[in-house]
Amino acid sequence: MRGWFLYSLVRQHNRIVNECALEFSARRTKTWQKSWPWIVVTFAGFGIGAIVGDLDDSSTAMLWSFGALSMGLTMLGIYMTVRIVRIHYRCPKCEKVVSTWDGVPVAPKECPHCGVSFR
Ligand SMILES: [Zn+2]
Repeated sequence: MRGWFLYSLVRQHNRIVNECALEFSARRTKTWQKSWPWIVVTFAGFGIGAIVGDLDDSSTAMLWSFGALSMGLTMLGIYMTVRIVRIHYRCPKCEKVVSTWDGVPVAPKECPHCGVSFR
């Protein structure tokens, strides 16, 4: 009887963990689907910035406006990506944003906050 109780407890635990992993992978997919256009925008901003190069007094007005466009796109892209990650990339168990001091892990094995397994 006691063995059965322990067995059912372990099974229960596994079921919860698996549901967390499933839910997290669904949230990760959603985060990616929503954020990739903004990642493209960010890189477009960087790309334009690289083409424009350094701006100084001798730069033309057109070059300056491309520089401003580059800055705007980069900032908008980063802002929106961070916003989407903060809204959607959350642990299903503790509801905290899955990120560390190093950044946002793309395929974390577990939650950095509560330690629940995502595999
Ligand atoms: Zn967590």
